[in-house]
Amino acid sequence: MKKINVLKPKFRTKEILSEIEECLDRGWTGMGYKTELFEEAWKDYTNLPNAHFISSNTVGLHLALNIFKKKYNWTDGDEIITTPLTFISTNHAIKYENLTPVFADVDEYLCIDIEDFKKKITPKTKALIYVGIGGNCGDLQSIKYICEKHNIKLILDAAHMAGTSIIKNHHGVAFTDEHVGQHADVTVFSFQAVKNLPTADSGMICFKDSEDDKKARKLTWLGIDKDTFNRSSKGSYKWKYNVDELGFKYHGNSIMASIGLVQLKYLEEDNNRRREITTLYDEKLKDLKGIKIIKDNPNIYKSSRHLYQIRILEKDRDSIMNKFYEKNIFPGVHYIDNTEYDLYKEYNGNCPNASQYSKELITLPIHLDISNEDITYITNTLKSIINE
Ligand SMILES: *Cc1c(COP(=O)(O)O)cnc(C)c1O
Repeated sequence: MKKINVLKPKFRTKEILSEIEECLDRGWTGMGYKTELFEEAWKDYTNLPNAHFISSNTVGLHLALNIFKKKYNWTDGDEIITTPLTFISTNHAIKYENLTPVFADVDEYLCIDIEDFKKKITPKTKALIYVGIGGNCGDLQSIKYICEKHNIKLILDAAHMAGTSIIKNHHGVAFTDEHVGQHADVTVFSFQAVKNLPTADSGMICFKDSEDDKKARKLTWLGIDKDTFNRSSKGSYKWKYNVDELGFKYHGNSIMASIGLVQLKYLEEDNNRRREITTLYDEKLKDLKGIKIIKDNPNIYKSSRHLYQIRILEKDRDSIMNKFYEKNIFPGVHYIDNTEYDLYKEYNGNCPNASQYSKELITLPIHLDISNEDITYITNTLKSIINE
């Protein structure tokens, strides 16, 4: 019997191999060459002004906070508002810079709740990391408005949002499809192995301000400052450079970029299939009592549909998971409330919705290898488990 996993990447193997072959033949697998091509392609696709290819979303979130902390003179212990319902990278990034995570609760979209966000703002609040769970935007536009009003930097963790676009503003005025990220101070994407644009591990960091982008390029290569030397030496002495800042080894490479360049060509097509899967699930589950489907905000956003999530309202989530396993279906949970982990337990108890949803959420299988018959099988299985 076929095993149905929650997430699974689809690679265009032949095309990817020929793209990688070009790197190998040319003897160039590192930073530069394909990484530059991928950065240009990503800017074309998203219409974001800057894009720097990096080794993961996790390092991108760290880098964003590192750059902003220095630029805006934040000090240790300054507060970053964040969500407990995310992959742990989001919150580790805050700790890497000795900043303090302040957890705000989530709304029905599983994104940060606007009212709780407002309540968590203090004079020490410097930034908000906003996670678009499953590709949803939640109340992003109102959140952005509050950030501007309080001079809070908006960092968008767009790990799930490759291909999410805004089609109307919150007053209902239509835009032409605008990729998310235009209004954030920085947007960080993940191209990890099971995300919508899978490579193996990589990401893209897109700053609004080109000066930040320039800074990022230096810091992802250990702080090596080639530019100033090149300027002063008119391009000669290429081996000479200065190092005036403690940078990191965070840049991406041409092998990952080769995979990304091919996968990007299929991103819209793949996301459209994810949207189709969502519609099928919605139709088949709409009358099922005992669950709540997590919706996006369909009149305003076109979600990338990285995840299809439901909440189990009455029965025990974990025993439902076990019953799925018996039928060779392997759903996921996105996510456990991060403040339940030992490292974050001092923050536990401030976000009742997140804590509740963390016990109820199930992610049903959604990827390019799911057939319409699979969806029927999965939803029938869920119905019989719920109704037994
Ligand atoms: C996957 C993920 C990350 C981390 O991405 P990497 O590229 O694996 O570092 C961060 N935040 C969220 C919400 C994610 O799902």
